[in-house]
Amino acid sequence: NAIEVTKKAKKAPKNNDEYKGVWVFIEQRTGKIDTVALELLSEGRKLADELKVELAGVLLGENVADLAKECFAYGAEKVYLVDGPVFKDYRTDSYTEAIVEIINQYKPEILLFGATNNGRDFAARIAVRITTGLTADCTALSIDPETRLLRQTRPAFGGNVMATILCPNHRPQMATVRPKVMKMDEPDYSRIGEVIRCESSVKEADMTTKILDIIQSISHTVNLQDAEIIVSGGRGIGGPENYRLIEELAEALGGVAGASRAAVDAGWVPHYRQVGQTGKTVSPKLYIACGISGAIQHLAGMNTSEIVVAINNDPEAPIFNIATYGLVGDLHQIVPMLTQKIKTL
Ligand code: FAD
Repeated sequence: NAIEVTKKAKKAPKNNDEYKGVWVFIEQRTGKIDTVALELLSEGRKLADELKVELAGVLLGENVADLAKECFAYGAEKVYLVDGPVFKDYRTDSYTEAIVEIINQYKPEILLFGATNNGRDFAARIAVRITTGLTADCTALSIDPETRLLRQTRPAFGGNVMATILCPNHRPQMATVRPKVMKMDEPDYSRIGEVIRCESSVKEADMTTKILDIIQSISHTVNLQDAEIIVSGGRGIGGPENYRLIEELAEALGGVAGASRAAVDAGWVPHYRQVGQTGKTVSPKLYIACGISGAIQHLAGMNTSEIVVAINNDPEAPIFNIATYGLVGDLHQIVPMLTQKIKTL
């Protein structure tokens, strides 16, 4: 189902050969690196090895130099650091300006961002400023062996095809990547690297926005993206009252309950539990899909799970094509039996 799309941008920079190295934006908040940046460093290491170039992190913040060690542990050889009070909290204008300045100075060949709220917000703005393309929401990256271009794969047309996008004429090649899509390597804290402190012309007086206060959102007790075990219910549960079967199994396993969009759209389950293309991308050790048919948009959010167990009364349901173990039957009987059995173990 792969289609090749070539981006057409207006102006080509003069010399693409000047652009070298793979960079990852190190998103951090209050001195803690977002795990998507560590996933991207792990993936970036593979891309850089294939291209035989350096991997670097780009780190912005106030008093964040210590975080460079973690970047080295996950494979970076260099960290470009922009440190100062004006970068304490993320702001579109300050971060865009500073990153554009260091791209123009050091010229990376590839630049990767997590498809987080912030990454989505400013990666596109940076791409416009430096006249290059951006592939948003990638689910796979690789190097084309012939052209050495970055192959950027993402769902297109409502998830019905996977589009592989190349950016042959412009540099850097830029992509945002969804959290939990790339596997994070084990860190090696014996690795060391070089911190390059970058000057920035960004001044507080030039900023169009000021941060007055940061109010933490009320966090729901579920954290699907970090869960190692997820039990999800779909339309097959038949109604909101039966979602407790899913929650009870999840609880017995020490996991978290998720859902398909059909169950969410029906109003049976809140949206923050939705797994899939327009919900959360998850990659647990165990994913149990109960009464879920296996639509491509659902699979896009969970098909990197280590073990998938499908419970469905239709033996032809597509979910069985990707399931490690399949149980054909009525979930209303199977799920409570499983919960009971697990509780007695
Ligand atoms: P169905 O496809 O209706 O499947 C229900 C399954 O339950 C069937 O296989 C049936 O055999 C089984 N079943 C019925 N009764 C029982 C029983 N008693 N015991 C056992 N099995 C039973 N979907 C998502 O999930 N996440 C997304 O993020 C998402 N994003 C989308 C984005 C776009 C742009 C579009 C167009 C669609 C998106 N969808 C998403 C919707 C997706 O296409 C499917 O419609 C949806 O995943 C179907 O949910 P389901 O499997 O629960 O329901």
